[in-house]
Amino acid sequence: MSFAADVITLFPELFPGPLGASVIGRGAGEGRWSLKLTQLRDFAVDRHRSVDDTPSGGGAGMVLRPDVLAAAIDAVSHQNDPRPRLLMSPRGKPLTQQRVRALAAGPGAVIVCGRFEGIDERVIEARNLEEVSIGDYVLAGGEVAAMVLLEAVVRLIPGVLGAEDSHADESFENGVLEYPQYTRPAVFEGREIPAVLTSGDHGKVARWRREASETLTRSRRPDLLR
Ligand code: SAH
Repeated sequence: MSFAADVITLFPELFPGPLGASVIGRGAGEGRWSLKLTQLRDFAVDRHRSVDDTPSGGGAGMVLRPDVLAAAIDAVSHQNDPRPRLLMSPRGKPLTQQRVRALAAGPGAVIVCGRFEGIDERVIEARNLEEVSIGDYVLAGGEVAAMVLLEAVVRLIPGVLGAEDSHADESFENGVLEYPQYTRPAVFEGREIPAVLTSGDHGKVARWRREASETLTRSRRPDLLR
């Protein structure tokens, strides 16, 4: 089984960007996931190929037309497509590692990248789009947000990252942040590696890491412990 991503965007040339590099790009080369891009403008219906119009009720900016976006969605995703349809949006539910894990276990995703002031509400309803936010700030478009989501998802697909169990200890996987990491040299600018980590006592190492994780989480992200 392979993860099939369809991205609808006015800027397909921004992809694959970081999704083409390193293990994520190699994973696509090995057929573990695929990325198909659809140019929204190809679904414009008028001779000016317009995809947006002024907001009903007035105000600044432009709004993506529902008919154009619906046509693009219908072209990549038929009615029985099991994949979730995501709309990158600052109004969405904030993306979490838990949602990322669920997506990675599924067949793929259809991802709509917004632009301008926003998207006509009726197409969000009519095509059952799930709004997903990557954080409480506003980007200029959904493309970078879609890349963030896909990079987080694809690295969890079996075979994409080298060591399968390298996920288990990571930040958020156990509801805590990851413990501090060290490597050689033994002394860096006068700072030593905590002695327990070079003691060879695996039980002690595990306990130190668990405690360090908890301390870090309590001071930086107490919300995660609640
Ligand atoms: N006027 C809108 C913001 C539009 S920003 C509002 O106030 O909600 C233009 C596009 O960028 C959005 O349609 C969305 O696709 C994308 N975008 C901006 N911020 C985002 C975020 N935090 N997460 C996901 N997508 C975002």
